[in-house]
Amino acid sequence: MRELLYDNLTVGENGHLYFAGADTVELAREFGTPAFVMDEDRIRAHCREYVRAMREYLPAFSRPMFASKALSFKEIYRIVGSEGMGTDIVSPGELYTAHAAGFDLSNAVFHGNNKTDPDIAYAVKCGIGFFAADNAEELYAIDSAAAKAGVKQKILLRVAPGIDPHTHKKISTGGVDSKFGSGIATGDAENVTRLALSLANVELCGFHCHIGSQLFDITPFIDAVDIMTSFIARVKQVLGYEAGILNLGGGIGVRYVKEDPFISVTESVKKISSALFADCAAKGIRPPAVMLEPGRSIVADSGITLYTVGSIKEIKGVKNYVSVDGGMTDNPRYTLYQAAYTVMNASKADREPDLACTLCGRCCESGDILQENVRIPRPARGDTVAVLTTGAYNYSMASNYNRIPRPPVVLLSGGRTRVAVRRETYEDLVKCDE
Ligand SMILES: *Cc1c(COP(=O)(O)O)cnc(C)c1O
Repeated sequence: MRELLYDNLTVGENGHLYFAGADTVELAREFGTPAFVMDEDRIRAHCREYVRAMREYLPAFSRPMFASKALSFKEIYRIVGSEGMGTDIVSPGELYTAHAAGFDLSNAVFHGNNKTDPDIAYAVKCGIGFFAADNAEELYAIDSAAAKAGVKQKILLRVAPGIDPHTHKKISTGGVDSKFGSGIATGDAENVTRLALSLANVELCGFHCHIGSQLFDITPFIDAVDIMTSFIARVKQVLGYEAGILNLGGGIGVRYVKEDPFISVTESVKKISSALFADCAAKGIRPPAVMLEPGRSIVADSGITLYTVGSIKEIKGVKNYVSVDGGMTDNPRYTLYQAAYTVMNASKADREPDLACTLCGRCCESGDILQENVRIPRPARGDTVAVLTTGAYNYSMASNYNRIPRPPVVLLSGGRTRVAVRRETYEDLVKCDE
Protein backbone atom coordinates (compact mmCIF):
# COMPACT_ATOMS: atom_id res chain seq x y z
CA MET A 1 0.00 0.00 0.00
CA ARG A 2 1.24 3.48 -0.86
CA GLU A 3 1.87 5.82 2.02
CA LEU A 4 -0.95 8.35 2.50
CA LEU A 5 -0.31 11.98 3.35
CA TYR A 6 -1.77 11.90 6.87
CA ASP A 7 -2.40 9.29 9.54
CA ASN A 8 -6.15 10.04 9.54
CA LEU A 9 -6.43 8.72 5.96
CA THR A 10 -6.90 5.02 5.26
CA VAL A 11 -8.18 2.84 2.44
CA GLY A 12 -11.14 0.61 3.24
CA GLU A 13 -11.75 -2.92 2.05
CA ASN A 14 -14.25 -1.50 -0.42
CA GLY A 15 -11.38 0.47 -1.99
CA HIS A 16 -12.77 3.79 -0.75
CA LEU A 17 -10.74 6.51 0.90
CA TYR A 18 -11.57 6.89 4.60
CA PHE A 19 -11.02 10.20 6.36
CA ALA A 20 -11.06 10.40 10.17
CA GLY A 21 -12.72 6.99 10.14
CA ALA A 22 -15.49 7.90 7.68
CA ASP A 23 -15.99 6.56 4.14
CA THR A 24 -15.55 9.62 1.92
CA VAL A 25 -17.73 8.14 -0.85
CA GLU A 26 -20.55 7.77 1.68
CA LEU A 27 -19.95 11.33 2.93
CA ALA A 28 -20.19 12.58 -0.67
CA ARG A 29 -23.48 10.74 -1.07
CA GLU A 30 -24.89 12.01 2.23
CA PHE A 31 -23.85 15.67 2.04
CA GLY A 32 -23.55 16.16 -1.72
CA THR A 33 -20.54 17.60 -3.52
CA PRO A 34 -18.54 19.70 -3.53
CA ALA A 35 -18.20 19.54 0.25
CA PHE A 36 -15.55 20.53 2.74
CA VAL A 37 -15.06 17.81 5.33
CA MET A 38 -13.01 18.53 8.44
CA ASP A 39 -11.51 16.36 11.16
CA GLU A 40 -12.46 18.30 14.29
CA ASP A 41 -10.37 16.10 16.58
CA ARG A 42 -7.29 16.92 14.53
CA ILE A 43 -8.05 20.68 14.68
CA ARG A 44 -8.34 20.38 18.46
CA ALA A 45 -5.10 18.39 18.69
CA HIS A 46 -3.26 21.15 16.79
CA CYS A 47 -4.74 23.83 19.08
CA ARG A 48 -3.66 21.87 22.14
CA GLU A 49 -0.13 21.45 20.88
CA TYR A 50 0.26 25.21 20.43
CA VAL A 51 -1.33 26.03 23.79
CA ARG A 52 0.76 23.48 25.66
CA ALA A 53 4.10 24.27 23.97
CA MET A 54 3.70 28.02 24.38
CA ARG A 55 2.74 27.62 28.04
CA GLU A 56 5.69 25.36 28.68
CA TYR A 57 8.49 27.12 26.82
CA LEU A 58 7.62 30.80 26.53
CA PRO A 59 7.23 33.61 29.10
CA ALA A 60 4.03 33.92 31.15
CA PHE A 61 0.94 35.13 29.25
CA SER A 62 2.30 33.79 25.94
CA ARG A 63 -0.54 32.44 23.79
CA PRO A 64 -1.59 31.33 20.33
CA MET A 65 -4.21 33.38 18.49
CA PHE A 66 -5.97 31.48 15.69
CA ALA A 67 -5.62 33.47 12.45
CA SER A 68 -9.22 33.17 11.42
CA LYS A 69 -8.72 34.46 7.89
CA ALA A 70 -7.65 30.85 7.25
CA LEU A 71 -11.14 29.62 8.18
CA SER A 72 -13.98 31.70 9.53
CA PHE A 73 -17.45 30.56 10.58
CA LYS A 74 -19.13 30.54 13.96
CA GLU A 75 -18.30 27.02 15.04
CA ILE A 76 -14.55 27.35 14.40
CA TYR A 77 -14.37 30.22 16.90
CA ARG A 78 -16.15 28.03 19.47
CA ILE A 79 -13.74 25.16 18.81
CA VAL A 80 -10.51 27.19 19.08
CA GLY A 81 -11.91 29.19 22.01
CA SER A 82 -12.76 26.02 23.94
CA GLU A 83 -9.16 24.87 23.43
CA GLY A 84 -7.81 28.03 25.07
CA MET A 85 -6.77 29.89 21.95
CA GLY A 86 -7.33 33.55 21.22
CA THR A 87 -8.08 34.70 17.71
CA ASP A 88 -6.85 37.14 15.14
CA ILE A 89 -9.38 38.84 12.92
CA VAL A 90 -8.71 41.04 9.92
CA SER A 91 -12.09 42.51 9.10
CA PRO A 92 -15.32 43.62 10.77
CA GLY A 93 -16.97 40.60 9.13
CA GLU A 94 -14.66 38.19 10.92
CA LEU A 95 -15.15 40.22 14.09
CA TYR A 96 -18.93 39.98 13.68
CA THR A 97 -18.72 36.21 13.16
CA ALA A 98 -16.54 35.70 16.25
CA HIS A 99 -18.85 37.94 18.27
CA ALA A 100 -21.94 36.08 17.03
CA ALA A 101 -20.28 32.83 18.12
CA GLY A 102 -19.86 34.21 21.63
CA PHE A 103 -16.07 34.36 21.39
CA ASP A 104 -14.31 36.26 24.18
CA LEU A 105 -13.09 39.24 22.15
CA SER A 106 -10.81 40.46 24.92
CA ASN A 107 -8.61 37.63 23.62
CA ALA A 108 -8.62 38.86 20.03
CA VAL A 109 -6.34 40.99 17.86
CA PHE A 110 -7.75 43.13 15.05
CA HIS A 111 -5.39 43.24 12.05
CA GLY A 112 -5.41 44.81 8.62
CA ASN A 113 -3.65 47.67 6.88
CA ASN A 114 -6.80 49.73 6.37
CA LYS A 115 -9.33 49.72 9.15
CA THR A 116 -12.04 52.28 8.51
CA ASP A 117 -13.45 54.58 11.22
CA PRO A 118 -16.66 52.50 11.46
CA ASP A 119 -14.56 49.28 11.72
CA ILE A 120 -12.56 50.80 14.56
CA ALA A 121 -15.62 52.10 16.40
CA TYR A 122 -17.32 48.70 16.06
CA ALA A 123 -14.29 46.81 17.41
CA VAL A 124 -13.92 49.20 20.35
CA LYS A 125 -17.61 48.75 21.12
CA CYS A 126 -17.20 44.95 21.04
CA GLY A 127 -14.35 45.22 23.54
CA ILE A 128 -11.59 43.98 21.22
CA GLY A 129 -8.51 42.99 23.21
CA PHE A 130 -5.91 44.54 20.92
CA PHE A 131 -5.68 46.42 17.70
CA ALA A 132 -2.58 45.67 15.66
CA ALA A 133 -2.27 49.29 14.56
CA ASP A 134 -0.76 49.54 11.12
CA ASN A 135 0.08 53.21 10.57
CA ALA A 136 -0.06 56.75 11.97
CA GLU A 137 -3.48 57.65 10.54
CA GLU A 138 -4.90 54.56 12.15
CA LEU A 139 -3.34 55.40 15.51
CA TYR A 140 -5.09 58.77 15.53
CA ALA A 141 -8.36 57.09 14.54
CA ILE A 142 -8.09 54.45 17.30
CA ASP A 143 -7.18 57.14 19.82
CA SER A 144 -10.22 59.20 18.92
CA ALA A 145 -12.60 56.19 18.88
CA ALA A 146 -11.31 55.15 22.31
CA ALA A 147 -11.78 58.69 23.63
CA LYS A 148 -15.37 58.70 22.37
CA ALA A 149 -16.06 55.34 24.00
CA GLY A 150 -14.35 56.44 27.21
CA VAL A 151 -11.84 53.58 27.20
CA LYS A 152 -8.10 53.19 27.06
CA GLN A 153 -7.58 50.87 24.09
CA LYS A 154 -4.77 48.31 24.12
CA ILE A 155 -2.75 48.15 20.92
CA LEU A 156 0.22 46.43 19.33
CA LEU A 157 2.13 48.19 16.60
CA ARG A 158 2.75 46.34 13.39
CA VAL A 159 6.31 46.67 12.18
CA ALA A 160 8.08 45.30 9.13
CA PRO A 161 11.29 43.59 10.24
CA GLY A 162 12.73 43.43 6.70
CA ILE A 163 12.88 39.66 6.33
CA ASP A 164 12.41 37.84 3.06
CA PRO A 165 11.36 34.30 4.00
CA HIS A 166 11.69 33.01 0.40
CA THR A 167 8.12 31.88 0.18
CA HIS A 168 5.67 32.90 -2.53
CA LYS A 169 5.68 36.70 -3.15
CA LYS A 170 1.95 36.98 -2.55
CA ILE A 171 2.19 35.40 0.90
CA SER A 172 5.39 37.15 2.01
CA THR A 173 4.62 40.14 4.19
CA GLY A 174 7.58 41.16 6.35
CA GLY A 175 9.88 42.90 3.84
CA VAL A 176 10.61 46.68 3.87
CA ASP A 177 8.55 46.95 0.69
CA SER A 178 5.50 45.37 2.36
CA LYS A 179 2.18 47.21 2.44
CA PHE A 180 1.86 46.11 6.08
CA GLY A 181 3.23 48.01 9.07
CA SER A 182 6.16 50.41 9.40
CA GLY A 183 9.74 49.53 8.56
CA ILE A 184 12.35 49.23 11.28
CA ALA A 185 15.22 49.91 8.85
CA THR A 186 13.68 53.15 7.59
CA GLY A 187 13.11 54.56 11.10
CA ASP A 188 9.35 54.66 10.49
CA ALA A 189 8.65 52.05 13.17
CA GLU A 190 10.41 54.14 15.82
CA ASN A 191 8.50 57.27 14.78
CA VAL A 192 5.15 55.50 14.92
CA THR A 193 6.10 54.10 18.35
CA ARG A 194 6.84 57.64 19.57
CA LEU A 195 3.44 58.72 18.27
CA ALA A 196 1.65 55.78 19.94
CA LEU A 197 3.27 56.62 23.28
CA SER A 198 2.10 60.22 23.01
CA LEU A 199 -1.60 59.39 22.58
CA ALA A 200 -3.75 59.59 25.70
CA ASN A 201 -6.36 56.95 24.86
CA VAL A 202 -4.23 54.10 23.62
CA GLU A 203 -2.03 51.80 25.65
CA LEU A 204 0.91 50.44 23.69
CA CYS A 205 1.39 46.81 24.78
CA GLY A 206 4.03 45.67 22.32
CA PHE A 207 4.91 44.94 18.73
CA HIS A 208 3.71 42.66 15.99
CA CYS A 209 5.34 41.29 12.88
CA HIS A 210 4.25 38.60 10.46
CA ILE A 211 6.87 37.47 8.00
CA GLY A 212 5.04 35.13 5.68
CA SER A 213 3.16 31.90 5.31
CA GLN A 214 3.79 28.23 4.53
CA LEU A 215 7.32 28.41 6.02
CA PHE A 216 9.16 25.11 6.26
CA ASP A 217 12.21 26.66 7.84
CA ILE A 218 12.13 28.13 11.32
CA THR A 219 15.12 30.42 10.56
CA PRO A 220 12.99 33.42 9.50
CA PHE A 221 11.27 33.29 12.93
CA ILE A 222 14.65 33.19 14.68
CA ASP A 223 15.75 36.16 12.53
CA ALA A 224 12.52 37.94 13.47
CA VAL A 225 13.17 37.34 17.18
CA ASP A 226 16.66 38.81 16.74
CA ILE A 227 15.49 41.89 14.84
CA MET A 228 12.44 42.48 17.04
CA THR A 229 14.34 42.15 20.34
CA SER A 230 16.95 44.60 19.00
CA PHE A 231 14.10 46.96 18.13
CA ILE A 232 12.55 46.53 21.60
CA ALA A 233 15.95 47.24 23.17
CA ARG A 234 16.43 50.33 21.02
CA VAL A 235 12.94 51.64 21.87
CA LYS A 236 13.68 51.04 25.57
CA GLN A 237 16.90 53.04 25.28
CA VAL A 238 15.58 55.90 23.14
CA LEU A 239 11.98 56.23 24.32
CA GLY A 240 12.11 54.62 27.76
CA TYR A 241 9.35 52.16 26.82
CA GLU A 242 9.79 48.40 27.26
CA ALA A 243 7.38 46.21 25.28
CA GLY A 244 5.50 43.51 27.20
CA ILE A 245 4.26 41.57 24.17
CA LEU A 246 6.00 40.35 21.05
CA ASN A 247 3.60 38.97 18.47
CA LEU A 248 5.47 36.99 15.81
CA GLY A 249 2.47 36.30 13.55
CA GLY A 250 1.73 32.99 11.87
CA GLY A 251 3.31 31.07 9.07
CA ILE A 252 4.32 27.54 10.05
CA GLY A 253 4.02 25.36 6.94
CA VAL A 254 2.01 22.18 6.44
CA ARG A 255 2.26 19.18 4.10
CA TYR A 256 0.31 19.57 0.87
CA VAL A 257 2.25 16.92 -1.05
CA LYS A 258 4.44 14.06 0.07
CA GLU A 259 7.63 15.96 -0.84
CA ASP A 260 6.78 18.59 1.82
CA PRO A 261 8.48 18.14 5.19
CA PHE A 262 6.57 17.76 8.43
CA ILE A 263 7.17 20.69 10.79
CA SER A 264 6.80 20.08 14.51
CA VAL A 265 5.05 22.92 16.32
CA THR A 266 6.57 21.97 19.67
CA GLU A 267 10.10 21.89 18.23
CA SER A 268 9.50 25.23 16.53
CA VAL A 269 8.28 26.82 19.77
CA LYS A 270 11.33 25.44 21.60
CA LYS A 271 13.67 27.01 19.07
CA ILE A 272 11.84 30.34 19.26
CA SER A 273 12.09 30.12 23.05
CA SER A 274 15.87 29.52 23.12
CA ALA A 275 16.45 32.40 20.71
CA LEU A 276 14.14 34.70 22.67
CA PHE A 277 15.70 34.12 26.10
CA ALA A 278 19.25 34.34 24.72
CA ASP A 279 18.54 37.52 22.73
CA CYS A 280 16.76 39.24 25.61
CA ALA A 281 19.57 38.44 28.05
CA ALA A 282 22.19 39.71 25.59
CA LYS A 283 20.26 42.92 24.90
CA GLY A 284 19.24 43.70 28.47
CA ILE A 285 15.46 43.48 28.06
CA ARG A 286 12.78 41.56 29.91
CA PRO A 287 11.58 38.57 27.82
CA PRO A 288 8.18 39.66 26.49
CA ALA A 289 5.11 37.42 26.37
CA VAL A 290 4.93 35.91 22.88
CA MET A 291 1.86 35.69 20.71
CA LEU A 292 1.82 33.43 17.67
CA GLU A 293 -0.96 33.56 15.09
CA PRO A 294 -1.17 30.17 13.41
CA GLY A 295 -3.87 29.82 10.78
CA ARG A 296 -2.81 27.22 8.23
CA SER A 297 -1.06 24.94 10.73
CA ILE A 298 -4.26 24.70 12.81
CA VAL A 299 -6.78 23.85 10.09
CA ALA A 300 -5.16 23.10 6.71
CA ASP A 301 -4.35 19.43 7.16
CA SER A 302 -7.63 18.84 9.00
CA GLY A 303 -9.71 19.43 5.89
CA ILE A 304 -10.37 17.77 2.55
CA THR A 305 -12.70 18.66 -0.31
CA LEU A 306 -14.89 16.05 -1.96
CA TYR A 307 -16.00 16.44 -5.57
CA THR A 308 -17.86 14.31 -8.09
CA VAL A 309 -16.28 13.62 -11.46
CA GLY A 310 -18.27 14.78 -14.49
CA SER A 311 -16.05 13.91 -17.42
CA ILE A 312 -12.68 12.57 -18.51
CA LYS A 313 -11.43 14.30 -21.64
CA GLU A 314 -8.35 12.87 -23.35
CA ILE A 315 -6.82 15.25 -25.86
CA LYS A 316 -4.52 12.88 -27.73
CA GLY A 317 -0.86 13.87 -27.48
CA VAL A 318 -1.70 17.02 -25.49
CA LYS A 319 -3.26 16.43 -22.06
CA ASN A 320 -6.09 14.81 -20.17
CA TYR A 321 -8.73 16.67 -18.20
CA VAL A 322 -10.78 15.30 -15.34
CA SER A 323 -13.52 17.78 -14.55
CA VAL A 324 -15.30 18.01 -11.22
CA ASP A 325 -18.37 19.81 -9.87
CA GLY A 326 -16.44 22.55 -8.00
CA GLY A 327 -13.27 24.48 -8.83
CA MET A 328 -11.85 27.96 -8.35
CA THR A 329 -15.04 28.99 -6.54
CA ASP A 330 -14.27 26.69 -3.62
CA ASN A 331 -10.47 26.61 -4.02
CA PRO A 332 -8.88 29.53 -5.90
CA ARG A 333 -5.37 28.75 -4.65
CA TYR A 334 -4.02 27.04 -7.76
CA THR A 335 -5.31 29.91 -9.87
CA LEU A 336 -3.79 32.45 -7.43
CA TYR A 337 -0.43 30.89 -6.59
CA GLN A 338 -0.15 27.56 -8.43
CA ALA A 339 -0.53 25.98 -4.99
CA ALA A 340 0.32 22.27 -4.87
CA TYR A 341 -2.27 19.75 -3.67
CA THR A 342 -2.56 16.00 -3.40
CA VAL A 343 -5.49 14.59 -5.39
CA MET A 344 -6.98 11.15 -4.84
CA ASN A 345 -9.64 9.11 -6.54
CA ALA A 346 -11.58 8.39 -3.37
CA SER A 347 -13.79 5.78 -5.05
CA LYS A 348 -10.79 3.75 -6.24
CA ALA A 349 -8.16 4.52 -3.62
CA ASP A 350 -6.87 0.92 -3.70
CA ARG A 351 -5.90 1.04 -7.37
CA GLU A 352 -2.62 2.08 -8.94
CA PRO A 353 -2.59 5.56 -10.45
CA ASP A 354 -2.76 5.08 -14.22
CA LEU A 355 -4.04 8.41 -15.55
CA ALA A 356 -1.95 11.58 -15.75
CA CYS A 357 -4.37 14.49 -15.82
CA THR A 358 -5.29 18.06 -15.04
CA LEU A 359 -8.06 18.36 -12.48
CA CYS A 360 -10.31 21.21 -13.59
CA GLY A 361 -13.43 22.84 -12.23
CA ARG A 362 -16.79 23.75 -13.72
CA CYS A 363 -16.37 27.52 -14.07
CA CYS A 364 -16.38 29.27 -17.42
CA GLU A 365 -12.66 30.09 -17.20
CA SER A 366 -9.76 28.17 -18.72
CA GLY A 367 -7.76 29.06 -15.61
CA ASP A 368 -10.24 27.21 -13.41
CA ILE A 369 -7.78 24.49 -12.49
CA LEU A 370 -7.42 22.71 -9.16
CA GLN A 371 -4.19 20.91 -10.00
CA GLU A 372 -2.08 20.03 -13.03
CA ASN A 373 -0.06 16.90 -13.75
CA VAL A 374 -1.56 14.62 -11.16
CA ARG A 375 -1.66 10.83 -11.44
CA ILE A 376 -4.74 9.09 -10.15
CA PRO A 377 -6.51 5.77 -10.80
CA ARG A 378 -8.60 6.43 -13.92
CA PRO A 379 -11.95 7.76 -12.74
CA ALA A 380 -15.40 7.32 -14.25
CA ARG A 381 -18.26 9.83 -14.23
CA GLY A 382 -19.76 9.74 -10.73
CA ASP A 383 -16.54 8.84 -8.90
CA THR A 384 -15.65 10.83 -5.80
CA VAL A 385 -12.40 12.77 -5.97
CA ALA A 386 -10.73 14.10 -2.82
CA VAL A 387 -8.35 17.06 -2.73
CA LEU A 388 -6.35 16.98 0.51
CA THR A 389 -5.17 19.75 2.84
CA THR A 390 -7.96 22.17 1.97
CA GLY A 391 -8.86 23.17 5.52
CA ALA A 392 -7.18 26.58 5.28
CA TYR A 393 -7.76 29.36 2.75
CA ASN A 394 -10.36 27.40 0.80
CA TYR A 395 -13.77 27.90 2.42
CA SER A 396 -12.59 31.35 3.54
CA MET A 397 -11.58 32.25 -0.03
CA ALA A 398 -14.62 30.72 -1.71
CA SER A 399 -16.77 32.85 -3.99
CA ASN A 400 -20.07 32.76 -5.84
CA TYR A 401 -18.50 33.26 -9.26
CA ASN A 402 -20.81 31.90 -11.96
CA ARG A 403 -23.46 31.98 -9.21
CA ILE A 404 -22.18 28.74 -7.78
CA PRO A 405 -23.38 28.22 -4.19
CA ARG A 406 -20.64 27.75 -1.61
CA PRO A 407 -20.19 24.18 -0.34
CA PRO A 408 -21.04 23.12 3.20
CA VAL A 409 -18.46 22.49 5.93
CA VAL A 410 -19.02 19.14 7.60
CA LEU A 411 -17.21 18.35 10.85
CA LEU A 412 -16.22 14.82 11.84
CA SER A 413 -15.58 14.02 15.47
CA GLY A 414 -15.44 10.70 17.28
CA GLY A 415 -17.11 8.99 14.32
CA ARG A 416 -20.01 11.48 14.19
CA THR A 417 -20.74 14.15 11.59
CA ARG A 418 -22.34 17.56 12.01
CA VAL A 419 -22.83 20.41 9.59
CA ALA A 420 -21.00 23.56 10.76
CA VAL A 421 -21.95 25.55 7.65
CA ARG A 422 -24.81 24.40 5.45
CA ARG A 423 -24.60 24.44 1.68
CA GLU A 424 -25.76 27.73 0.16
CA THR A 425 -29.04 27.56 -1.69
CA TYR A 426 -30.10 29.37 -4.86
CA GLU A 427 -32.29 31.58 -2.63
CA ASP A 428 -29.15 32.54 -0.71
CA LEU A 429 -27.63 33.64 -4.01
CA VAL A 430 -30.37 36.19 -4.67
CA LYS A 431 -31.01 37.31 -1.10
CA CYS A 432 -29.27 40.69 -1.58
CA ASP A 433 -30.74 41.31 -5.04
CA GLU A 434 -33.55 43.91 -5.26
C1 LIG B 1 -2.10 35.39 7.36
C2 LIG B 1 -1.70 35.84 8.69
C3 LIG B 1 -1.52 34.91 9.72
C4 LIG B 1 -1.67 33.42 9.52
O1 LIG B 1 -0.71 32.85 8.71
P1 LIG B 1 -0.67 31.25 8.52
O2 LIG B 1 0.38 31.07 7.50
O3 LIG B 1 -2.00 30.84 8.06
O4 LIG B 1 -0.30 30.67 9.83
C5 LIG B 1 -1.21 35.39 10.97
N1 LIG B 1 -1.08 36.71 11.21
C6 LIG B 1 -1.23 37.63 10.25
C7 LIG B 1 -1.10 39.07 10.58
C8 LIG B 1 -1.55 37.23 8.96
O5 LIG B 1 -1.69 38.15 8.01
